[in-house]
Amino acid sequence: MTDATPLVEVSDLTVHFAGRGNVLGRLLGKGPVVHAVNGISFSIGRQEVLGLVGESGSGKTTTGRVLARLVAPTGGRIRLGGEDWLCLSGSALRQRRRDVQMIFQNPFASLDPKWTVERIVAEPLKTHGRLAGPELRGKVASLLESVGLDPRLMTRYPHQFSGGQRQRIGLARAMALNPQLLIADEPVSALDVSIQAQILNLLAGLKASHRLSMLFISHDLAVVRHVSDRVAVMYLGTLVEIAETKTLYRSPRHPYTQALLSAIPDPARRKTRKPISLKGEIPSPLNPPSGCVFHPRCPMAQARCAQETPKLRPLADGQHAACHFA
Ligand code: SF4
Repeated sequence: MTDATPLVEVSDLTVHFAGRGNVLGRLLGKGPVVHAVNGISFSIGRQEVLGLVGESGSGKTTTGRVLARLVAPTGGRIRLGGEDWLCLSGSALRQRRRDVQMIFQNPFASLDPKWTVERIVAEPLKTHGRLAGPELRGKVASLLESVGLDPRLMTRYPHQFSGGQRQRIGLARAMALNPQLLIADEPVSALDVSIQAQILNLLAGLKASHRLSMLFISHDLAVVRHVSDRVAVMYLGTLVEIAETKTLYRSPRHPYTQALLSAIPDPARRKTRKPISLKGEIPSPLNPPSGCVFHPRCPMAQARCAQETPKLRPLADGQHAACHFA
């Protein structure tokens, strides 16, 4: 159950990067532009898990990184607990940063190999000046216990742990400041299937015990279904569909979502949907197609689709889809 006021409100978020191009073009500001995210809007409720799915290059990771303020957007607004999150700077930003934490696909890359686990998990607590000495050590021990790790291992280094254990260390560090929002970017895709289930159950437990909201980013629709209250689908920097998880998996309305879901078994129907094959590859974000960005691959495309960009519009049951014919 979630509160009515969203914790996160994203409006018209846009992220464009300078592409490689030639040096002169870049200096003149006339080089190629990567359209990573193009005017997306969504919200995340309190204690809600929003799954964000899409193929590689859809802009989902960039969206997560903007939310964590690791990447600056080109345009748009983000409100966090009613406050303008993108306008915060200096000490106000440092104070509020503790409320938004992120875990990554490859925890090994985000853990300093020269630091012990104790130092890694203690670091955010020290930075925010909360604890020191035996009190700090006790807090690290309880954080490690909360993610299912033996606190006696805190003197070890990241390379002495398995992939699943390293993800648990990353989670202990992320939870150290008791955040309101956890951004999990492909947190289980590098793990064995049996370990994936353990980490997903751990995330569900932390969500309940810490009253967390979560943006769960993944390319794996089966995993997203397992953890999310609602699911948003991205394609080439745009949000094409968003709905309650049950609604989306039962009756996807956007042709892209239909194609993605047709490839996975549907236990509710006790059969697999007829696979829908898409033409070609996802186009380059350097030169997105006109009109509906999905039109070159869409099995339902009509002449209008190449001219007119469909808006994300409400359908029944709170479902939204960006398709002229949904
Ligand atoms: Fe396909 Fe046209 Fe709908 Fe885009 S607007 S998803 S191209 S039918």
